[in-house]
Amino acid sequence: MAFRKKGSVCKLCGKKKNITFEGDGVQYPVFSCPEHGLESRNEWARWWKQYHNRWQQKDEFWDQPREKPSCLVSYFCHKFKEFYGYEYTLDCTNPIPYTSKDFIMSRRILALFHGNARRAKNYINWVFEKRVKSVNYTVSSFGFFSSPQLVNEYNAARARSKIIRRSSSLPKNFVEWCKEHHPSIFERQQLSTWDDLNGLIAHIQLRGKDCVEALVVTEAVKRNMLSDENTYKKLED
Ligand SMILES: [Zn+2]
Repeated sequence: MAFRKKGSVCKLCGKKKNITFEGDGVQYPVFSCPEHGLESRNEWARWWKQYHNRWQQKDEFWDQPREKPSCLVSYFCHKFKEFYGYEYTLDCTNPIPYTSKDFIMSRRILALFHGNARRAKNYINWVFEKRVKSVNYTVSSFGFFSSPQLVNEYNAARARSKIIRRSSSLPKNFVEWCKEHHPSIFERQQLSTWDDLNGLIAHIQLRGKDCVEALVVTEAVKRNMLSDENTYKKLED
């Protein structure tokens, strides 16, 4: 008897199953026998029912080990559709979702992030934004994301973005807070970079704390942007 991959033939008659795809946002395989029709127990359909948008059902799923692979796979499918405008088709060679290629890849990616699914999610965002960039470049599988080289690139980019330079822009929400609460600061001082923020400390040291500059610095300390009201932020050139 010729070797047949487990699950690819009907248990009742031994005929090769037909595969069709269903699902919105994720395309999952549905197996049927030409003679006996739809499989009574379709694991993919069961997965679809409960898990196809696991990533957005409950925030805490991202921290639960048994939910992490479904969160990642479903999130990847979501990003894929958002990016390309059509559905990602899950690997159909395996009738059991959790042992199929895309789920094996999700576990490999999780391992590269020491099991931290939230970091893996940020990484997926980064790959689409910074590496894939153009819809002309086709990501043909989730496996594309499981390359340790790509993860290293991501980690390096993340480390670089943490260095604050003299010319680095201040966080947007901080600038917005200043505009809302102390708009006069922008008439008195230049305030867009971290170096400008250090300039406010110099101002306080020279003129005392009875001024709008001090109020802005106090807020920066509250936000952990500065260690205290007298210490300059250490900045790279
Ligand atoms: Zn059959």
